[in-house]
Amino acid sequence: MKTIIRNVCIVNEGSRKTADVLIANERIEKIETSIQAIGAGSFNEINGEGLYLLPGMIDDQVHFREPGLTHKGNIFSESRAAVAGGITSYMEMPNTVPNTLTLELLEEKYQIASKNSMANYSFFMGISQNNLEEALKINNEDVCGITDDGLYFNNDKGILANYPDYLEKLFAKSNALVALHSEDDCIIHHNTNELRKIYGEDIPFQFHPAIRSEEACVVATKRILEIAKKHNNRLHLFHISTVAEANLLDNTIPIQEKRITAEACVHHLFFSDKDYEQLGAKIKWNPAIKTQEDRDGLLLALLENKLDIIATDHAPHTVQEKNGSYFKAMSGGPLVQHALPAMLELVHNGSISLEKLIEKTSHHVAEIYRIKERGYIREGYYADLVLLDLNNPWQVTPANTLYKCQWSPFENTCFKSKIIKTFVNGNIVYEDGIIRSDQVGKRLKFSKNR
Ligand SMILES: [Zn+2]
Repeated sequence: MKTIIRNVCIVNEGSRKTADVLIANERIEKIETSIQAIGAGSFNEINGEGLYLLPGMIDDQVHFREPGLTHKGNIFSESRAAVAGGITSYMEMPNTVPNTLTLELLEEKYQIASKNSMANYSFFMGISQNNLEEALKINNEDVCGITDDGLYFNNDKGILANYPDYLEKLFAKSNALVALHSEDDCIIHHNTNELRKIYGEDIPFQFHPAIRSEEACVVATKRILEIAKKHNNRLHLFHISTVAEANLLDNTIPIQEKRITAEACVHHLFFSDKDYEQLGAKIKWNPAIKTQEDRDGLLLALLENKLDIIATDHAPHTVQEKNGSYFKAMSGGPLVQHALPAMLELVHNGSISLEKLIEKTSHHVAEIYRIKERGYIREGYYADLVLLDLNNPWQVTPANTLYKCQWSPFENTCFKSKIIKTFVNGNIVYEDGIIRSDQVGKRLKFSKNR
């Protein structure tokens, strides 16, 4: 069955135009003003009038919790939430149980996804104290990269950013993309002890950014940048949360030539420290959500291309795991279903154009990872598409939330934009609030040169 989307406003590569789009054999076959349906009856025709067609979001930082932590979420449940949110491809983190520190464990995740991931997928190889040689064996055309995100470097103490000697070794030897979580653990420990002296175990949540402070981020990011630059190696910085860090990054180089790239996450662009009072643990993330100046400055850094992409850091925990006092409430929260709708609020209030938004959620993700045949609306590319109504308000409720953990930091929020349909490899996988297909996504493929 072929599909034609008629008279839809296609937003792609910095401009928009109204045309018809023909989808056949998983791919975008034709984009033309008026496509003739030859052999009517074998066509599924969709009226796109008044709607927008975007390339699906490619989210390079999610925690889907499988294997080992499946009470929080799994590849099946979270990939469904992702496609409902217009995310058609994702890259997943290694802090599952066991941690993804061998090629064998990495392949096991691909095997699970090949059976039940609704979106396209790639899985990061984890890096830790004892697996450098193993981690370096990944095939760059088949695996998105190496990361320490969510992992402890040295048993239960410290993260990789605190081990410059090891970073040196990693960057000297690696020809893969290395993506890092950048915070300094010593500074965080010091800040924790100081606040504990005052508040004991009940530190108010608004002090989370005082513990996971700007200084902790900047010190670690400067250290990592120095080492990566020395080796001219391919570094990607996850979830930059401060303007001070964004200002360390270069915006004079075209995206295709950057050796160092960085991202902002949805929660850091949407919330600020003013929201801790109302939302408390629900917005406790690492790195912490910081000031309004940081929130607004991160958006500006995206517009100025100091920051290159937008990701979610989707990290579900159960309601129970998010409850309790400061030290008990876990960091992280579910986001994939609401990331695009939340970012589209920024389009509505004039902070970013739709064209620039999808550059950051699709085009440039494809560029920095060198993803093959995705991330753009181009003839011959896979049909990973989102049909969007910019003016169709809806409210986030537990009933329409698809995460396995069944809560959202956006609960009760009213979004102005609604995702009407999501296509993955040409199949409609989500339509009018319903997951429609039992199709599975594909493993992402990458060009060799990073
Ligand atoms: Zn992280």
